[in-house]
Amino acid sequence: MLSADDARRAAASLRGAPADAVLAWAVATFPGRVALSLSFGGPGVVLAHMLSAIDRTVPVLFIDTGMLFPETLSFKDAFVARYGLNVVTLRPASDPGPLYTTAPDACCGIRKVEPMQRVLPLYAAWVSALRRDQSSARSETDVIEYHGGGDRPVIKVHPLAYWSRSDVWRYMSENQIPHHPLLDQGYSSLGCWPCTRPSADASDERAGRWAGTAKTECGLHTFTTRVRARPGGETT
Ligand code: SF4
Repeated sequence: MLSADDARRAAASLRGAPADAVLAWAVATFPGRVALSLSFGGPGVVLAHMLSAIDRTVPVLFIDTGMLFPETLSFKDAFVARYGLNVVTLRPASDPGPLYTTAPDACCGIRKVEPMQRVLPLYAAWVSALRRDQSSARSETDVIEYHGGGDRPVIKVHPLAYWSRSDVWRYMSENQIPHHPLLDQGYSSLGCWPCTRPSADASDERAGRWAGTAKTECGLHTFTTRVRARPGGETT
């Protein structure tokens, strides 16, 4: 396990590296202890494509909330078959029913956050497709981050942190990577069907998620706490 200061040094050395090099670093540094989380509803398929060329045995964690679009499930199945990914499906421990209508944060907690919290202690590193340009809440995302706050520390790895949305689409076009079919029908990011709308706001990739409410995150990427380290090893 890396320390917070190790993670800071790794981030400094990898910040300008190609995304697949960052991903390869994570796979080599944490053998058998790294996983990629993937919704199949957005830019994460770029990382799945890269991972298929690096090591197809790395677990790809897919949270089936029970409220996903049927198109998401069929796209996931086709994508996994094409690239030979090692998908691990996580499901909520209980069905909270239509809790999203009255308490969406609690609903996300049951359907998304708790399933990830349950398996995260198995891994030392967690890779995901967060990017700085996705929202103000993600604007300080770095390629390598040390996080506490859960049962144990985890290194969060974001190979696409400095990519733009156009970088994502350019890579997908150049590599002929299939994308979620609803991205051709006005959606720009896919989550659960009750909380996802088409969006005309081309400048905000996540505008269709919990549209019309103040909610912008499900909690999956906020339940751990980022620990920043300074050159002397001092943390903030
Ligand atoms: S996105 Fe909506 S339906 Fe899905 S877990 Fe969150 S509140 Fe519930």
